[in-house]
This record gives sequence, C-alpha cells and structure tokens, in this order.
Amino acid sequence: MTRNVNVAVIGGGVMGASILYNLSTKGIKDSVLLERDTLGSGSTGRSSGLIRMHYSTKVNAELSWKSFPYFLNFDELIGQPKPQFIRTGFIAIAGPESKEALLNNVAIQQEVGIDTHIIDLKEAREIAPGFHLTDEESFAWEPQSGHGDPSGTAMAYIRGAEDLGAKVILKSPVQKIELKKNKVFAVHTEKETFETPIAVIATGPWSSQFLSHLGISLPLTATRHEVFLIKRNDNLLSNHPSGADMSNMTYFRPEGNDMTLVGNGNREHIVDPENYNPKPSMDYLEDVWLRLSKRIPSIAEGEYFTGYAGLYTSTPDTHPILDQIDGIDGLYICTGFSGHGFKLAPAVGVCMAELITEGHSSFVDISSLKSSRFSEGKLNQISYDFRVIG
Ligand SMILES: Cc1cc2nc3c(=O)[nH]c(=O)nc-3n(C[C@H](O)[C@H](O)[C@H](O)COP(=O)(O)OP(=O)(O)OC[C@H]3O[C@@H](n4cnc5c(N)ncnc54)[C@H](O)[C@@H]3O)c2cc1C
Repeated sequence: MTRNVNVAVIGGGVMGASILYNLSTKGIKDSVLLERDTLGSGSTGRSSGLIRMHYSTKVNAELSWKSFPYFLNFDELIGQPKPQFIRTGFIAIAGPESKEALLNNVAIQQEVGIDTHIIDLKEAREIAPGFHLTDEESFAWEPQSGHGDPSGTAMAYIRGAEDLGAKVILKSPVQKIELKKNKVFAVHTEKETFETPIAVIATGPWSSQFLSHLGISLPLTATRHEVFLIKRNDNLLSNHPSGADMSNMTYFRPEGNDMTLVGNGNREHIVDPENYNPKPSMDYLEDVWLRLSKRIPSIAEGEYFTGYAGLYTSTPDTHPILDQIDGIDGLYICTGFSGHGFKLAPAVGVCMAELITEGHSSFVDISSLKSSRFSEGKLNQISYDFRVIG
C-alpha cells in the first residue's frame, strides 16, 4: 500500500517522539512515526534517566537547561500528564587534576543561566552525608537536578503528537529511504510505502547501519554500557544526592527508597546492536561497586539487586549530530547522543522541528552539531568523558 505523508520520522525513542510532537505543534499535518519494534525499545528504555546540567560546552549546557522546564512542567507545556521527575540534586566531584575543568564548566553553565555553583567541603558534607570527601577535591552543586522517566517521556510526547493528528506505526522497520534527484521521495517498510518529501532519521544505535544503504558514513558507533542497582543498608545511609565522581569514574543516583543506581563509562566497547549481550557482567559489577564504595563507604555493605546493559550511540566528541544531510533535500538526522541524550530530548525536538520547518534553529544554536564537523576536524572540545556522567 502507498500513502502520502508530509514527514516520516524513523525511530520511536525519546528523540523521534519529541520531534514528532514538535513538528505537529508547528502545524505539520499527515506526519507518521515508524518504529521497528515498540516505543522506547532502544536506548530510551534502558536509560538511567539522570537529568543534570553539568556540561563543558555551551551547546550541551543550553540544550539541557532549555529542556529542564519540560521535565518540571510537562503537563502545562505539552498538555499531557507529567512523567515522573524526582529531584535529588546533583553533585559533580573532581579531583585536583580536573579542578580547572570543573571551574570552567560551571562558568559556562552559569553564563547559560543554569542554577549551579561551586560549594566548599563543609557544604558538600552537609549535602552528601555519608560520602567520603576530601579538601583536595572540588564540588559543583545543582540543587534542582534529579532523574526522570525516559520511556514515560517518550510515550507522553507520542500521546501529544497523536492528539494533534500524527500517526505512529509500531513493528514496522524501515527498510530504505528512496531518493529521486537528490531529494527524499519515499520511505519503505516491508508492507507499506510512504511517499514523503521529508524523512528524519532518529534510529539511535542502529543509525550507522541504517545510513549505509544511502552510502552515508558517519563516525557513529553502538557501544555497550552497563548499569547496576545496589540495595543500600538503610541503617547506614537512608538517602543521597545524584552525582558524578570524576576521580573514581562513576555516576550514581538514588532509585526508589533504598537503592542506588550506578553506572560508569570506562569499559564500553563497540557492539553489533542486533546482537549484543544485555546481561550484566559480575567482574565489572565488582569493579564498579568497589569504586562507588570509595566515595560512599557504606555502599560496600549493600546487596546486589540487579544489572543490565544498554546501548549508547557514540560519536568521537560525545556530542550528537543534529543536521540536514548535505546534498539530499529533505533528509534530516538526529542521533549520536553518546549516553546522555534523554535529558536533552525536549529541547532537541524543538530544535529539529525548527530546522525542518524554518531551515535553522533559533531555540538553541546547534551549528556545532553538524555532521560536517568530523570531516572538517572541528570537533567539540570536552573536559571529561561525559559517558562517565550519564
Ligand atoms: C544504560 C543507559 C543509561 C543511560 N543513562 C542516561 C542518563 O542517565 N541520562 C541521559 O540523559 N541519558 C542517558 N542515556 C542515553 C539516552 O538514553 C539516549 O541518549 C536516548 O534515549 C537516545 O534516544 P534516541 O531516540 O536517540 O534513541 P533510541 O531510544 O535508541 O531510539 C531509536 C529507535 O529507533 C528504532 N529504529 C532503529 N532502526 C529503525 C528502523 N530501520 N526502522 C524503524 N525504527 C528503527 C529503534 O527500535 C529505537 O526504538 C543512557 C543510555 C543507556 C543505554
């Protein structure tokens, strides 16, 4: 069957969902989102959900800060029930080797307007009792940050888009985008053809493989990332803020009343997204748990609850690609979030909708996220590997 649509969004993660909704608010009628499996079945459904603003480039800091109001007031801004947001505060902890970077980052963030500041050891101990902290370390504190519900956010955007007339089709892998005279002409699934002038690729870890059928090669890799949940001994530590520990290379947040989620970015490797191991590895658990215990000693007395692995879509500078593909009219790409995209999704959806309908984004200047930066050697400069932070 062949249908005519105005836009086809490919991929039903939080990015595709946010883009579909934002296009619908701009009056784009007859848009469709095609998802190979179920909503959130890619990275979104395995995300740790951390929402913090600590970044070392203006573009990421701004994308996270401009997304933040949506997590707080989703119901008012999107008109759908608000997905859960839990405020925990977020502490970034840097050893002497990262002090300068931490101070620079906070200066950039404050310029953007983010509610963050440097705190001293005494304040850090008050905010994070039960943490092992020393006077050689530096601390940045975001009182408003916390964590949200990635799949719930994707679903809420989808409901908003459907209310505005968009269509969502699940279990429909896109097999190819057909071009005619360097323009998008149609998007094909096994059963249907959608003739459309605009296709948006939001295929997460599958992006590199998907782009290959168009002869497009970008430095996008699917990398495996493990997360663990440890049940705390409640008598020793009843709660704690979220945070990132640059010395011990972990990020963490409380989960529910008595658990701690911990993740880390130092043992990622490239995998085939069709065939990766989603199970936790016990030797890695031991390693990460030990490092977390250096920061939160009572965690050593905790109990392993569960663990799993998900996929990041990584780029060489850990920044996403938000762009129109050069030389192909109507082809857009939104991927490469390198393990920290959930918290950026509200603003990314607005930016992509502006890029598609107006030719540029005025909500946030995303010119540093073009795909040409790799071939031109103009990578974004980061101070730490943000895969460590979540
Ligand atoms: C373990 C883990 C922890 C994380 N922690 C955090 C965190 O704490 N904070 C944070 O901000 N971010 C975090 N992230 C990153 C965040 O989850 C991702 O950046 C975000 O979910 C990316 O969304 P997406 O829509 O781009 O990709 P995805 O959610 O992967 O969605 C892509 C979708 O495209 C579909 N698809 C692929 N190919 C096709 C095709 N041919 N046809 C149709 N559909 C297709 C897939 O099925 C998938 O549903 C984490 C990620 C992981 C894995």
